[in-house]
Amino acid sequence: MLNRREFLAAAAAAAWCNRASASATQGKFDLLIRGGRVIDPAAGLDAVRDIGITAGRISALRANLTGDASEIFDARGKVVVPGLIDIHTHTARTAEGPRMVLEDGVTGWIDAGSQGADKIADPIAIARSAPQQARVLINIGRAGLLPDGDTMDLARADVAAAKAAIAANRDMVVGVKARLSRDVAGANDLEVLRRSQEVASAFGLPVMVHMGQTMSPIPALFGLLKRGDIVTHMFAPPPNSIIDDSGSILPAAIEARRRGVFFDVGNGQTGHMRWDTVAAIVKAGFWPDTFSTDWGANSRQTGVIDLPNCMSKLLGYGMSVPDAVARVTVNASRVFSVFKDRGTLTAGAPADVAILELRDGSFEFLDNYKGTITGKQRFYPVATVLGGTLMRRPA
Ligand SMILES: [Zn+2]
Repeated sequence: MLNRREFLAAAAAAAWCNRASASATQGKFDLLIRGGRVIDPAAGLDAVRDIGITAGRISALRANLTGDASEIFDARGKVVVPGLIDIHTHTARTAEGPRMVLEDGVTGWIDAGSQGADKIADPIAIARSAPQQARVLINIGRAGLLPDGDTMDLARADVAAAKAAIAANRDMVVGVKARLSRDVAGANDLEVLRRSQEVASAFGLPVMVHMGQTMSPIPALFGLLKRGDIVTHMFAPPPNSIIDDSGSILPAAIEARRRGVFFDVGNGQTGHMRWDTVAAIVKAGFWPDTFSTDWGANSRQTGVIDLPNCMSKLLGYGMSVPDAVARVTVNASRVFSVFKDRGTLTAGAPADVAILELRDGSFEFLDNYKGTITGKQRFYPVATVLGGTLMRRPA
């Protein structure tokens, strides 16, 4: 998402900031993260650096910072990146959710449609009390996630109810979620999406569509997407995946991306990801804009595990480490404006930092069909800094 010109401009700005802050580096820091491999794709940075944090903000970033610090974290051998942003989770379904993902390095999350208009107060209460920045998408199905399908009964896609719920919670609802699979919306998928757009457009908000195994074909569905909308579960296998049998990405997907629709992974557990589909899509050069977990309280016992694990899955397909980091930092920060000052470690930014280990070895990664691939590298969460406060992950 950073094009080359923006990348160079960001790198130049970062270099200027480093020089400008050089005179301030003798100061006292609240926290000094020393000697890590700092990867900040927003600034074009991948190098060993020290990070000084003062009053909840990044105050210095350079090699060999000097100055007193109340607390020092020895990050030698670790990877230090902006706090991770997960744009498709169900963190707000459980009171413990926000704390659990914070341990994984997640300093910003979106609950993607756990509830609809009837109970939108529930996820909002959890998002509000979360330590991180957290917002929710409202499910167009007024009863939220239903085992029998959120909008199988089309009356549940209630435009008036959704609009009223958003109007009452403008600060916390940042988009509309439309789950469109056959077992969720049945033959109603197009009408559900049309109603979602009617609701979202009234407030200038994006729609996140859950694709995969829909009854309607992709061109019909994607034709209803506008700039800033998000397609999640982009690696969903057929029927109606974004790639055809001959290995070509559908023109409708290419056109959607060109007009500013984001493509997200949404790892999840069932129906969203199969290795052969993943391989074909990335071979065709259609890489995700963002990685997300589709997190739930049981994720550590599934193929999701955590966001750092989901970040690792495409390394074996040729994605670089900085590119993987970009997808959960700067790229994610551009999808929802609530994160617009996040996803970077530039001086002055809020001090949200994820400290990870990038281990070499042999690691098994799961899709949603019990399929495994073996990778040579995997990210593990080690510690999280949120607003300048360091939390080491419990052993
Ligand atoms: Zn989901």
